[in-house]
Amino acid sequence: MVSAERLGVFLKLQQIVLDNEDSNNLLTNLLPQIFQSLISINLIYEFIAVIFIDENHQPLKSYCTNSTNNLINLENLLAKGSAWEKESLWGEIVISSEINQFIQNSYPNFTNIKSIIISPIHIGKKLSGLLVLVNPREGKEVVQEEQEIIKLTANILGLAYKIQDTQTSLTNVTQEVYKMNLKLHQLDKLKDDFVSVASHELRTPMTAIRSYAWMALNRPDVILTDKMKKYLERTLISTERLINLVNDMLNVSRIEAGSIEIRPKSFDIRALTNEVMIEVGTKASEKSLHLEVEQGSTLDIFADQDKVHQILLNLIGNALKFTPNEGKISINLFPDGKMVDISVTDSGVGIAEDDQSRLFKKFERLDNSYVSSATSGGTGLGLFISKSLVELMGGKIWASSQGSGKGSTFTFSLPLATTEVLSQAEKYTKKPEGDIKILEPVAI
Ligand code: ADP
Repeated sequence: MVSAERLGVFLKLQQIVLDNEDSNNLLTNLLPQIFQSLISINLIYEFIAVIFIDENHQPLKSYCTNSTNNLINLENLLAKGSAWEKESLWGEIVISSEINQFIQNSYPNFTNIKSIIISPIHIGKKLSGLLVLVNPREGKEVVQEEQEIIKLTANILGLAYKIQDTQTSLTNVTQEVYKMNLKLHQLDKLKDDFVSVASHELRTPMTAIRSYAWMALNRPDVILTDKMKKYLERTLISTERLINLVNDMLNVSRIEAGSIEIRPKSFDIRALTNEVMIEVGTKASEKSLHLEVEQGSTLDIFADQDKVHQILLNLIGNALKFTPNEGKISINLFPDGKMVDISVTDSGVGIAEDDQSRLFKKFERLDNSYVSSATSGGTGLGLFISKSLVELMGGKIWASSQGSGKGSTFTFSLPLATTEVLSQAEKYTKKPEGDIKILEPVAI
């Protein structure tokens, strides 16, 4: 039995292990404290050491309250596979008084050594180390209570090793994740740069093709056969699709790289919606669609006008695409004192309830029954871009529909140009972020 007073010392040591804040150096700090605690209960050794071993009983890590030399000697001693090491592997404390020539040679400075106590350290059922106490007393003087205390010490060391080992693995994993993250960001940047350069390079020749195709079709001095006219019309449509795709990709890569600039100003949203409706007028009349814009007094918002124009074109463009001939598209504004909700409603194919959550994700194109993605010619990027731009300007975007075939409403909100908003113009302005910074991993 271990006395209550001696037991208290061990409870304190256990608490130190559990409360430690520097798990990486837990054993280095703990062993001297154990050594001192043993002295405080009158168990005095020359020095103590602990050696942790792998499955093949090869030393992994060792700690000693004395110089490293002693430790190396101890490791050598154990590597010799002496009889008492083998016994201790099976779980019992071994006390050896046969101090042979090897020990004498190994510790010339310690003339006092009379015996060596070796206690196994188990973690769970696995033998994970050996606690070695170099003793100035004869082996036979090591009574039952001292042996119990040594077992308790070995348990505490096992616990500490487990904590330290888990911490080391965790730190290694964190470092690995950090390195992988860095690599991913570099690859991502390379991809962004590539998309950006490729899109720029593609845009110039494509714009030229579009202009020449348009001129060939529209100049009165160019005489075309019907077949040539058809070929050129197809060239023009395909080139426009390609230009849209390249523009969308460029926009997405800028959004993801944080290099979109938002330059807000105060302007009348009603005037802008009217302009956009005139812009899409020709396309709407080709499908005999009825366009309706709610009229009213000026309504100033604080946003980037080009970006709002782009969002409106996307939403109205979609409404044109997904509404059958002779349908209706209307734009309504709902100011509430702080924000204005701008909604684009169509009488088109509608959106099934299950699909509504997918709408604003990248490359998401729904399987609308009326227009196949092949004929609609979309990229599935428009709504993702609109959502990102709206959010960058401090608003929200959402869609609603009564279901398939019942039309859809896309609404986005933006801040009104109130005195409060104007006084915080900085908050609504976004400068390109430049390179993405990755945080250093924090030592745990
Ligand atoms: P796309 O370039 O394909 O139009 P968007 O991101 O703008 O890409 O739209 C994504 C998908 O959302 C479309 O392919 C379509 O399936 C659906 N969608 C968008 N607007 C409407 C609408 N007004 N009515 C029905 N479905 C729509």
